[in-house]
Amino acid sequence: MPAHDSSAHLITHALPSYLNPDDVGPWGTYLQQVDRVTPYLGSLARWVETLKRPKRILIVDVPIEMDDGSIAHFEGYRVQHNLSRGPGKGGVRFHQDVTLSEVMALSAWMSIKNAAVNVPYGGAKGGIRVDPRKLSKGELERLTRRYTSEIGLLIGPTKDIPAPDVNTNGQIMAWMMDTYSMNTGATATGVVTGKPVDLGGSLGRVEATGRGVFTVGVEAAKLIGLRLEGARIAVQGFGNVGGTAGKLFADAGAKVVAVQDHTGSIYNAQGLDALALQEHVRTQGGVQGFPGAESMEAEAFWAVDCDILIPAALEGQINKDNAQRIKAKMVIEGANGPTTPEADDILHDKGVLVLPDVIANAGGVTVSYFEWVQDFSSFFWSEDEINARLVRIMQEAFAGVWKVAQENKVSLRTATFIVACQRILHAREMRGLYP
Ligand code: GLU
Repeated sequence: MPAHDSSAHLITHALPSYLNPDDVGPWGTYLQQVDRVTPYLGSLARWVETLKRPKRILIVDVPIEMDDGSIAHFEGYRVQHNLSRGPGKGGVRFHQDVTLSEVMALSAWMSIKNAAVNVPYGGAKGGIRVDPRKLSKGELERLTRRYTSEIGLLIGPTKDIPAPDVNTNGQIMAWMMDTYSMNTGATATGVVTGKPVDLGGSLGRVEATGRGVFTVGVEAAKLIGLRLEGARIAVQGFGNVGGTAGKLFADAGAKVVAVQDHTGSIYNAQGLDALALQEHVRTQGGVQGFPGAESMEAEAFWAVDCDILIPAALEGQINKDNAQRIKAKMVIEGANGPTTPEADDILHDKGVLVLPDVIANAGGVTVSYFEWVQDFSSFFWSEDEINARLVRIMQEAFAGVWKVAQENKVSLRTATFIVACQRILHAREMRGLYP
């Protein structure tokens, strides 16, 4: 390869010194997705480097007193990837395997997602490297409050607005809102979304991500002639996202035939009772032991006979080792980053339609946006109104992405990146460089 080509390659993939070049993690997946969209950005490609590094990263030490009197330290992050279109927006994840690379990628996917559905936000994400199941309620509250104080430098209703993500919920958002309000001296409901309804939360927010997954699934099924009546669905992760989506598909006449989570994998060719399974997960902490289902090997889950596969857990689940075995006609990404770029190509070659995370799971942040607007105006909408607006935004955004995919003969992921990156970089160009 000529010298200038290899140096161009190096520039394209310039990694910040704080990442390990031998194990770039989910950020590496995101960088490859940006590389795929760059040829479609026209003159805006001049600004594309802005997407390849987060604007701002805060790493914090979160010390708390444990119930036994010892002191424990946890690693916390808040990353603001891009603020060109508005304040930072994105969830907070509590998980023992959280890494900087992961939070960086999740923050970048928020930038893309928020632009794809055209809500006026940049992208941000936070996380703590902790297994919250191992903490008492008091420890969890102290952890949340100390973390919120530590990232208080960055967050605020017009600066950066956290929300729930994996292992965080309305109670944690209530503690975050209270801590921020105590520190600033005034109740600031708009500092986080996904709050309990009695504390400035929005009706429909808990189900919003799953409802969005279902909405784009319905639209795509129409476009490819897949009948939902009797369609077989496999879901990985039956929490807030996968559980709601599974239930809505079942209500529409589909059958949830297989479900996998961190406790096990279960199967029933006749269809599982999605509502009862949601209740089982709520009370038992996972799908394991659900009556009326056989358990199956974790690896066999990916090869299950099904029409629609919904990964709704963590990143990198569909990869070069299992993509070839997937039998679904359509994959709807409820999780963020569940499919690696190699797996994306394998699925494409097999003719499997992938509805990418950056559009498919954008329903959550869309209703977060509604919550934030309601908090600012202190005027709250009915659930019907919220769901109708959510469905309209998801349908319009999906139709736009579908059109761009057809016009450019690219995957829906690249099409979503085209729409979103154009919006972000156009804002960047109009705002200009300061100073
Ligand atoms: N954590 C969710 C996501 O990944 C929601 C973020 C939000 O509502 O700000 O999209």
